[in-house]
This record gives sequence, structure tokens and C-alpha cells, in this order.
Amino acid sequence: MHEISLMTNIMDITSQEMKKHGATKLISITVRYGVLSNVVPDSLLFAFEALTHKTPYEGAKIILVEEALSLQCHLCEHTFSPQGKEYLYIPCPACQTQGSFKLLAGEGIFLDRLEAE
Ligand SMILES: [Zn+2]
Repeated sequence: MHEISLMTNIMDITSQEMKKHGATKLISITVRYGVLSNVVPDSLLFAFEALTHKTPYEGAKIILVEEALSLQCHLCEHTFSPQGKEYLYIPCPACQTQGSFKLLAGEGIFLDRLEAE
């Protein structure tokens, strides 16, 4: 389950941020994950519970936000959000060029927001 290691990274960033701002009580974190990251939200929640259990962060909330795919055509720079993950095989909706896109969003997982005091 790679969600544990992903969540460990998120919690590392969380504690660094809290230290930086002199915060001691974590209220909530918002985590964005791309549709291409193959993350299972339930596993992320489970990992968060496991990693915060019996720590100063116990009881904090986690908000998960799925990030849609966003692509930009290399040729005409048209930006679009295809449904599903078959973007490598679809033509650009604007110029019909096949599969030459820059990935703008929808990949990876990151800490979006942190609420602490
Ligand atoms: Zn195009």
C-alpha cells in the first residue's frame, strides 16, 4: 500500500510547516491527489489515521480533493480536461493532433492547505 509512504511525506511536510509557523495543534490538512496518481482515498484516510494515532496530531481532520486531469496541446496550446485516463490515445479537441500533450494537472499528491494553531 503506497498510500502509507505518500502520507508519511505529507505528514513530514505538515510538521515542518507547523514548526516554521510555531503552531502546535493541527486542526486539518487538505490533500490534493491527481486522477493519475492511482491513490485510493480510503487507503489515504486509513494511513492518516494510523500515522496520527497517539501523536500530537491525533483528532486532526483530513480533507481529500481529487484533482482533474488538465492537458495542454504542444502544437496549438489548447488546454482541456479529458475524462478518464486514456489521454495518450485521444486527439486534441482543437487541432486533432494525436497524443502530444503537456500534463498541467492531475498527477501526484500534495499538501494543499494546512490549518493549525
Ligand atoms: Zn491542439
